[in-house]
Formats: sequence, C-alpha cells, structure tokens
Amino acid sequence: MTDLRTAEAATLLPTDTPGVVLYSGGFERLIADLRLGIEALGADEPFERLAIPPVISRALVERAGYAKAFPHLLGTVHSFTGTPAEWRELSGTPDWHREQRIGDLVLLPAACYPVYATLEGRELTGPARFAVSAHCFRQEGSAEPGRLRSFRMSEYVTAGTQAHCEDWRAAWLARVAEWLGAMDLKVSVEVADDPFFGRARKVFQAAQRAQELKYELRVEVADGLVQAIASANCHKDTFGTVFEFTADGEPGHTACAAFGLERIALALIHAHGPYPADWPQPVREVLTGAVAAGALR
Ligand code: ATP
Ligand code: ZN
Repeated sequence: MTDLRTAEAATLLPTDTPGVVLYSGGFERLIADLRLGIEALGADEPFERLAIPPVISRALVERAGYAKAFPHLLGTVHSFTGTPAEWRELSGTPDWHREQRIGDLVLLPAACYPVYATLEGRELTGPARFAVSAHCFRQEGSAEPGRLRSFRMSEYVTAGTQAHCEDWRAAWLARVAEWLGAMDLKVSVEVADDPFFGRARKVFQAAQRAQELKYELRVEVADGLVQAIASANCHKDTFGTVFEFTADGEPGHTACAAFGLERIALALIHAHGPYPADWPQPVREVLTGAVAAGALR
C-alpha cells in the first residue's frame, strides 16, 4: 500500500516509451496550482479563453509553415483507408500498418496555432487577446528529464499592430521572469532560435536571433540540465499575412507567452523538493497567484 507521504509526492512515472510519462496525484495538484498562478498573472488583461483539442487541421499547420520548418517534430495522424479484403490480409501481421495513410489531422505542436486561424479575414481595430492551454506533441529525438513528446503548454496570445505586439511581448517577458524569480528559481533570459530543418537553416536561425523573435526563460530542471521552461515570442506579421488579418490597416502582428507546465513543475521540484506542501510559504503563494510576484519587491 502507498503511504500518505508517497502519495503527496510530485513525481513523473516512466512508461515503456521515452518521452511519455504518467503523473502522480501530487504532480497533478502542482500543475493545477500552476494554472492558478498563470491565470492570476493574466488577470488584468481581457483574455478570451479558448479550449483547444490535442489535434489540429493538417492544412492549417502546413499554411502556418510548421510542417516545412519542423518535419522531424510534427506528429501526423494516419489511419487505415483500404478495403475489408485488404484488411483481412494485413490484420494480425507485423505489417498491419502498411496501408495507413495520412489524414486531415496532425497532433497539435503548440497551443497557439489554432488561434491565428480564428482571426482569418478580420480587420482588427484593437488588440485581440486569447488564453489557451493544450496537450502538445513533438516527436523529440532524445529523452531527458523535461524533454517529453506529450506535454502541456499554456499560452497567452495577442494579435494587433507591430508596436502593440512588441510592447506586449516585452511586458510579458518581464512579468514571467519576475514570477519565476519570486518562486526562487534562477532564471536566465536568452535570445533563442528554433532548431530548424532544411537548406535555409543557418540563414533562418541567424535572422531569428538578430530580430530577437524568441526569448527563452531557462532554468535548471535536473542536476546540470538547464531547459527553457517558458518563452516569449514575436512572430512579426507571419500569421497576419498567412491568415490575412489586419491591424489598423496593416498585416496583423502576433506575439505569445508560452508556459511549459511540466518543465516549470520540474524546475520547482528540483529547487524545492518533491513535496509541494512543504515548500516555503512565499513560494506557494506566488505559485498559486495568491500573492502577486510584484508585491514581494
Ligand atoms: P512558437 O509559438 O514561436 O511556435 P511556442 O512559444 O508556442 O513557439 P516553444 O517556445 O517552442 O513554443 O515552447 C513553449 C514551451 O513549451 C517551452 O518554453 C517549454 O517550456 C515547453 N516545451 C517545449 N518543448 C517541450 C518538450 N519537448 N517537453 C516539455 N516541454 C516542452
Ligand atoms: Zn506560441
């Protein structure tokens, strides 16, 4: 029988496949607390909440450029499209999946993608703001703590003018860094680039860095292992152009602040131990949003 103490621990349980884990009850309570904290961080902005399923239209992901940029990470959904006679031949053989064909869905790679398509054709006269949270999938090539294939991401997303998106991203970068710091995490903020596949890789990455499109908030999640636990991104007018929405008559810009829930949890567990109930009171209060991080200054 599990004793009470073990049941409280926030832990990940490995499965038979790398990058897919099970979560203890204690871990899920920590995730629920983190969601409260993230909600409190955004409480002063009128975000529209959208619930997002873990799959997304393949056409949309192709239009958004993800399939081209990250073919190695994208999980596609295939299914059997053959005849019953063909199935009788394949069924029960090791080759049963030979006739599987790609369909119209892929696994959602980031929580914010469905949002941009909802803006298609809109002429924004003020910023649009969305709060989303979803199970995401990326076919990661390596398994280390915090590098999951199925993981949860919460995001705040905005669309509007270039000036709005740049200011918004800067404000959110500072806000998230302050929140994480107030939970006694050692955060480094770094300009990042997305690992990118294909011939244009070096040019693309250099441009991404030079334009400071992506900032990562990096924290140690296990001994000697530092990972991005959140990011603050500007996409310029990429999605405004693809999905043809405007802000004040110009192609719309977008920005997002993304929180990797498992990684934030792992960073906290690494810093404070596996029993969240025992963590210092100020850390718990900031974690759940009961006390604003700024109030501790
Ligand atoms: P963009 O919108 O620019 O495509 P994003 O901000 O939506 O990117 P990322 O910055 O790539 O997405 O990811 C956001 C956060 O999700 C990361 O900071 C990280 O915490 C978490 N994350 C990403 N990949 C993984 C993974 N393999 N396992 C666990 N968490 C992950
Ligand atoms: Zn995003």
